[in-house]
Amino acid sequence: MSKILATIPRPVEGTWQTSMKRAIRSSTALCGVLEIDPRLACPAAEADFPVFAPLEFVQKMEIGNSRDPLFLQVTAGLEELSDENRAHSTRDAVGDKAAERSPGLLQKYDRRVLMIATGACAVHCRYCFRRHYPYSAVPPGRQAWENSMDLIAADESLDEVILSGGDPLTLADESLAWLIDRIASIRHIRRVRIHTRVPVVIPGRICAALLDWVVRCRLPLYFVLHFNHVHEIDAATRTALAELRRAGATLLNQSVLLAGVNDSFEAQRELCLALVDHQVLPYYLHQLDLVQGALHFQVSDARARQLHAQLQAHLPGYAVPKLVREEPGCRSKTSLA
Ligand SMILES: *Cc1c(COP(=O)(O)O)cnc(C)c1O
Ligand code: SF4
Repeated sequence: MSKILATIPRPVEGTWQTSMKRAIRSSTALCGVLEIDPRLACPAAEADFPVFAPLEFVQKMEIGNSRDPLFLQVTAGLEELSDENRAHSTRDAVGDKAAERSPGLLQKYDRRVLMIATGACAVHCRYCFRRHYPYSAVPPGRQAWENSMDLIAADESLDEVILSGGDPLTLADESLAWLIDRIASIRHIRRVRIHTRVPVVIPGRICAALLDWVVRCRLPLYFVLHFNHVHEIDAATRTALAELRRAGATLLNQSVLLAGVNDSFEAQRELCLALVDHQVLPYYLHQLDLVQGALHFQVSDARARQLHAQLQAHLPGYAVPKLVREEPGCRSKTSLA
């Protein structure tokens, strides 16, 4: 640990906005602070999806380990430009364009509508299916949100609003409090859900101003977090989880099955057990969405089912996530086990 602290710049005390500003923004710089061979960096893969890794997340990586499971999730490596990756041209793997009800508002399933509240994230995950989403086409800010709220208010078949992105917790608390208040004022809406990876990568984002709107929210508030590996849970993250729970939120986790990162029984078992230790219920284990540039993370369905069966054989039922894949045009995530 002391070696890690010696090499990686310490995240400064201060706001989460400072953490965003100081994030590492290239695979070359990331290899530099981790003392990993810079020839493993691939700047050419970063043009359409830059590297972005906050220091709080980088601090959880092991110095000198080019196979570190956290490093592999965020570094741009040569595999992204492999022939197989280049040949794969699907840029909208999950059918988001077809599900758009209005700019920034997606509905694929009954009752639930998903709002792309922002295109920004607090980390760039190389396997992400949204790496090719045309965020710049989403009108930013209040006018688009007002339109979405009007549409939700007029549709009584909806009872849940999911704030997603991007990562909604990269928005200012003032904006989030406004959105939550507006959603809670719609009579037929019964639950609010927030999909976020922020507590994993900048745990300090769970600040007093955020907890204030969480506590005040009139509706049950679900946070669906995104941990992929047990090393992502450190003391600061544990504190963030405890504060969200204390503020009344229900915590779930979704992760993605990733070759070389968490595709072993031990990795899955340790993650699931650590999550339930912190009262976060494993919700989904996703099979990778096949997007260009991410195929090297793919795990076969046979292997995924085998891992899932092992988890079921050894863990309490509530500690085992559902193994799913997202398929365009389906009425729910597709269960694989
Ligand atoms: C995944 C997803 C949801 C949420 O589905 P649940 O099974 O309820 O978690 C909702 N809307 C969209 C567009 C989604 O992709
Ligand atoms: S935080 Fe979520 S939306 Fe953002 S890049 Fe990572 S997986 Fe994708």
